[in-house]
Amino acid sequence: MPNLDLYSRPINYLRISVTDRCNLRCVYCMPAEGVPWRAHEQILRYEEIETVVRAASEWGISKVRLTGGEPLVRLGIVDLTRMLANVPGVDDLSMTTNGVLLSRHAKALAEAGLRRVNVSLDTLRPQRFRRITRCGQIEDVLAGIEAAHQVGLEPVKINAVVIRGMNDDEVVDLARKSLDEGWNVRFIEWMPVGNESPMEYSWGDKVVTAEEMRQQIEPALGELVPAKTRAGNGPARYYRLPGAAGTIGFITPISDHFCFHCNRLRLTADGQLRPWLLSDTEIDLRTPLRQGADAAQIKALILQAIESKPLQHHLNDHQRPQKRVMSQIGG
Ligand code: SAM
Ligand code: SF4
Repeated sequence: MPNLDLYSRPINYLRISVTDRCNLRCVYCMPAEGVPWRAHEQILRYEEIETVVRAASEWGISKVRLTGGEPLVRLGIVDLTRMLANVPGVDDLSMTTNGVLLSRHAKALAEAGLRRVNVSLDTLRPQRFRRITRCGQIEDVLAGIEAAHQVGLEPVKINAVVIRGMNDDEVVDLARKSLDEGWNVRFIEWMPVGNESPMEYSWGDKVVTAEEMRQQIEPALGELVPAKTRAGNGPARYYRLPGAAGTIGFITPISDHFCFHCNRLRLTADGQLRPWLLSDTEIDLRTPLRQGADAAQIKALILQAIESKPLQHHLNDHQRPQKRVMSQIGG
């Protein structure tokens, strides 16, 4: 049974950033340069991550997601996947990836026990993709999505962060993919995270709300009807267009925050447990892990994180996390 936090929310989900490094440089996630990578010895080793997951599973964490930076750039990621898939109590192991290296690794990941993937893709236009990611090739991501389907990493979800002036003119085209190709597309409202965020302010102007997106989609493609989905840990609300095989989800941290249903903790690549995405509070696990803490001590620190989850975020009151950019937290 999941442990409840102080506000009676069941905490059953851990997102693990396995590296702060990335093979892309998305404009809304990290600056082009100036974010130093953590040194190798600061990054948790796979055995240390496994120790944390074993302890967390004893508190009822059953869903684990690997993220980054870009999780597929970390060497041996298939081995970590296998280690975590074998932890008793973990019944839903997933990954969020930019998809660039996915066609290379999809089969091995599925065989190692990964259940499903979310692939981030904010545009369908090759040149715009290159501009947003500062260096990527959209063909690599499309090949990754195809490979994920072929090996059954289902449901494959496509995450698109929508930002005014960046890609808000593609909401209908992306939504149409749920009709034409059965994609499960999730539109995410952009969040201001990190002191060095390249999107400077007033940040509210950049946010395209789910309601605005709906007002684009419905006149063009038909009514969005609430949909039931197979797998979901989280905050998205799902809909389906008439006759569509795929779904459309909205994740609305800004216009309709879902803090009262928050079920998650986050572990950064350098071993800090974050009770809350949108607050800088962190609990250091790396030091005790390296000082030989036993499972009971790690469990106690995880409980401390669960119990320090606040009720809700305060972005709208101009309070935002400053210490890390999104690539250092993992989304
Ligand atoms: N590199 C992987 C990827 O892009 O899928 C995993 C890490 S990335 C930080 C995880 C997710 O966070 C991606 O879907 C990305 O689009 C999203 N993201 C990054 N910065 C964001 C921001 N400021 N607001 C909302 N979502 C953001
Ligand atoms: Fe890298 Fe993912 Fe951030 Fe893009 S969103 S820069 S792919 S970590």
